[in-house]
Amino acid sequence: MGKTTQLIHSVPVDELTGSISVPIYQTATYVQEAPGVNKGYDYGRSNNPTRHALEQIVAGLEGGRSAFAFATGLAAIDAVLKLLRAGDEILAVDDIYGGAYRLFTHIYEKFGIRVTYVDTTNVENVAECITEKTRLVWLESPTNPTLKISDIEKIASLAHAKGAWVVVDNTFASPVAQQPLRLGADIVVHSGTKYLGGHSDLVAGLVIVNNSDLAEKIKFIQNASGGILGPQDCWLLIRGIETVTLRVERQCRTALRVAEFLSGQEEVAEVFYPGLPSHRNHDIAARQQSGLFGGIVSFSLKENTEAAAVRFVTSTTYFKLAESLGGVKSLLCHPAQMTHKSIPREKRLQAGISDSLIRLSCGIEESEDLIADLKQAFRALATQAQRQVEPLKEWA
Ligand code: PLP
Repeated sequence: MGKTTQLIHSVPVDELTGSISVPIYQTATYVQEAPGVNKGYDYGRSNNPTRHALEQIVAGLEGGRSAFAFATGLAAIDAVLKLLRAGDEILAVDDIYGGAYRLFTHIYEKFGIRVTYVDTTNVENVAECITEKTRLVWLESPTNPTLKISDIEKIASLAHAKGAWVVVDNTFASPVAQQPLRLGADIVVHSGTKYLGGHSDLVAGLVIVNNSDLAEKIKFIQNASGGILGPQDCWLLIRGIETVTLRVERQCRTALRVAEFLSGQEEVAEVFYPGLPSHRNHDIAARQQSGLFGGIVSFSLKENTEAAAVRFVTSTTYFKLAESLGGVKSLLCHPAQMTHKSIPREKRLQAGISDSLIRLSCGIEESEDLIADLKQAFRALATQAQRQVEPLKEWA
């Protein structure tokens, strides 16, 4: 069976009415026949049929056993961190999503959890830095925003030998391009806000696991902490997921064309896209991804200043300037001043996020239109640069 057929038919038909769309169970509680005697549902935080349907669909998409839906991607990440206790350590990819860095550093470090950041694209760095206290190895692959790729399979066998779990934030690849559980990861997290939702109209998070012990632990945390996704958003997320394979395949094809276009631009210093043979982790990406390299492309400018990046990101028409990614409408952002603002500049530069780095999220528009949009932004970049230089000439 093809993956889209499998996905579409994992969306259940309602047994009660035959409704082809999953019903929204907008309820806080469920009537019981006697205390503890119920139809499998007792309270809205603990369980909800719409949420249950979503969780089953997502578990299937990731090749996992169980999935859990949270209010946001960060709530999902937070639930995983609650597996830890004081004294435990996390070994994390250095080019990590800014919000995860903020949560690790400003919330969990004060509860006695130590985080070490390393360039996980080099497996030797992981081998060197992993300790007896490491409980989680935290990967993003591709990373946000420089699209570094880590060898999930190799890192998983290293981590397992030390008794640590491997978590992969699979937001950027999406399950269409990569299934980390099949590569040996223990836990997958998603910002469902991005490719899974796909329409920039909701925020959601997911945790997916493939062993029953971890499933029980996450279920306990989900119920104990309560950061669940509400039934309306569960429905909306199911609705988005139904087209995820179509959207992501097109977005990935477009991103490759955009990356090739950017590579030929004289104003561009470097293009980051794992689908380009010139990308330093292209071989691993080709091996562990499904032939799709993601819908995100980042690039830096030769004029390596925040001002130049701002001129560019304010000159596009179809690429809208906004946080987030993965939706049908193309977006762009300037990580130094937006998504990665909470990371100190020195650390940001060490992770390869230069002042002029720009991140593009390709939507489902025709690739020729997106490339035309970028062309006119490069022209605007050059014209505005001239305009800035002219008054200086007058003063000279
Ligand atoms: N993980 C990655 C890679 C992200 O890019 C984001 C948000 O941008 C998150 C997690 C957090 O997700 P949310 O914004 O849904 O909380």
